[in-house]
Amino acid sequence: MTDLAARARDLDDQHSATDRRSAFRIPEGVIYLDGNSLGALSVAAAETAADVVARQWGEQLIRAWNESDWWGAPERVGDRIGELVGAAPGQVVVTDSTSINLFKTIVAASRMRPGRSTVLTDPDSFPTDVYIARSACDLLGLTLELVPTPDAPARIAELGDSLALAAYSQVDYRTGEQWDLPALTRAAHDVGALVCWDLCHSAGAMPVGLDEGGADLAVGCGYKYLSGGPGAPAFVYVRREHLPSFENVLSGWQGHANPFGMSTDYDPAATITRARVGTAPLLSLLTMEGALTAYDGLSIEDVRARSLSLTGLFIEALDALGVDLPLATPREEARRGSQVSLRHPEAYAVVQALIARGVIGDFRETDIVRLGFSPLYLSHADVVAAAEHVAAVLEGREFERDEFRARSTVT
Ligand SMILES: *Cc1c(COP(=O)(O)O)cnc(C)c1O
Repeated sequence: MTDLAARARDLDDQHSATDRRSAFRIPEGVIYLDGNSLGALSVAAAETAADVVARQWGEQLIRAWNESDWWGAPERVGDRIGELVGAAPGQVVVTDSTSINLFKTIVAASRMRPGRSTVLTDPDSFPTDVYIARSACDLLGLTLELVPTPDAPARIAELGDSLALAAYSQVDYRTGEQWDLPALTRAAHDVGALVCWDLCHSAGAMPVGLDEGGADLAVGCGYKYLSGGPGAPAFVYVRREHLPSFENVLSGWQGHANPFGMSTDYDPAATITRARVGTAPLLSLLTMEGALTAYDGLSIEDVRARSLSLTGLFIEALDALGVDLPLATPREEARRGSQVSLRHPEAYAVVQALIARGVIGDFRETDIVRLGFSPLYLSHADVVAAAEHVAAVLEGREFERDEFRARSTVT
């Protein structure tokens, strides 16, 4: 047995309490390093989906709104996600997509800070974040400034009371760099502005500490680390003290204080329910509720410890195997999300060659091999095997093969 294999075995023993592999259905022969883009199917998600279709929809029919509490599912599942992101109950609701929730939070934030003209976001954010921020700002007559996250505190201080909102991601989707949520939040609060955090690449993989860090608003994805399933609805967080002033620009009936009063006038619910819009995608939402049971009995701190151990061993294994590609991801633990991104001029072909070997990661423009480490279902043994595949692809120059260089549309 090699040193790396022995180390992997030791670490798997040390972290056995957070091993949820048996709760997931990972195909034989696959090392799945894309749970940060589409989380894997869990046994509970599959069983819940089947139950929702056959029993709840099939037998309960419309009675399921009460008998299976479909009506309360957005808040119920929101509270479960709240536990994972450090939000006390009553501040998170599952609804719509991340894109739509971001639009709602940016408009609401600007109305909570009237007279302030500027919104900041990172130019390298996931593109939908920039597009949505721009369209919300255009609609409201605000200025969108694109300021990289490391430069944001200084720019926030300069803008002072003209800043309404800083909208940033906790973890960069491409490089996997984790930013300092409490520090950036404080910088915005120092000038009286609000912060909205995008948690797409952190929720479910690490502690977020929304309440503790002072976050005002947050959005995040249900289908990445949370493994809610393709197209699972997203979530939105509104800090309790902001609920009375959170105006939902999309004033749909499900955010109404008395939806079945069928009133002509919109009267928002006093609670986080006001962030709802229309009828939830219940097959998806309830499937996600099943998926979240994979976290039962685990603390998010322990999940984070496992994640850091996995990414740390992967980096160590690459070094030991002589893989000298530049890391886009910081080596320091405090600045690392739950992924390791490598730079390679032929990153696309490298990813295709890895997929052919059963190591599924993804490519991100322009030169990023992005490998996500979903802590619940990956082992340290997987990590060492993945590093060995990366080394073999590079040593054998497999990325030079035509079959791996030809681009398809969805990567
Ligand atoms: C995945 C992701 C999204 C996805 O938004 P959808 O509305 O679900 O398509 C948005 N923002 C970030 C940062 C993401 O990583």
